[in-house]
Amino acid sequence: MNPAILLIEDDRPIAENVVLALARDNLDCRHVTLAAEGLALLRDGGFDLLILDVGLPDANGFDVCRALRGFSDLPVIFLTARSDEIDRVVGLEIGADDYVPKPFSPRELAARVKSILRRARGNGHGAIGVAPSSGPAFLRVDEERACIACRGQTLELSRSEYLMLKLLAARPEKVFSRAELMDAAGLAEASLERSVDTHIKSLRAKLAACAPDVDAIRTHRGLGYSLVRAKA
Ligand code: CA
Repeated sequence: MNPAILLIEDDRPIAENVVLALARDNLDCRHVTLAAEGLALLRDGGFDLLILDVGLPDANGFDVCRALRGFSDLPVIFLTARSDEIDRVVGLEIGADDYVPKPFSPRELAARVKSILRRARGNGHGAIGVAPSSGPAFLRVDEERACIACRGQTLELSRSEYLMLKLLAARPEKVFSRAELMDAAGLAEASLERSVDTHIKSLRAKLAACAPDVDAIRTHRGLGYSLVRAKA
């Protein structure tokens, strides 16, 4: 069965191009123009990924994503028209997996969709192979439930943050480059490296809330990031 994509986008020419590009890659895409209509379909389930325009006639995409996160961890790619929207997508904790700034190439979008679907399918199969005992003492990675707890408190992570932190936790003290972190998180190469920094900033804040005495993620200038191996 082909993966099922939902596209919520009010610009019909853009939507038609996206649907065609996805069909070429054997991805079935259902298209709606209104947030309310899209959310109703999402509640019914059956989709593998959501492509979400930020500027919709009846709501903005951020609110749609927040509402979705109340009942689903479906991967989400945002279509953004302005750079301040990009900042909100990567900076706020709304659980976006990637974003594509307009104007974009539908083929590039299809490539990102496939990359994220591959990652989503890989989840829970131990692709990175984190044994519970191998991580740092203050973190526990639960791959079956796709969540990470810091000192017993489950962190509220976006999918990208979860995948990045899982990678870091698999090898404490090892320095991972931004490219490795982007790859682990399913962010396409064309994504700005800045988005890795923004995810790291968000992860630091979340870890600091649970473990304020641990400076959990180290920056290695020009190289990347590593997670400390700290005591619990
Ligand atoms: Ca729009």
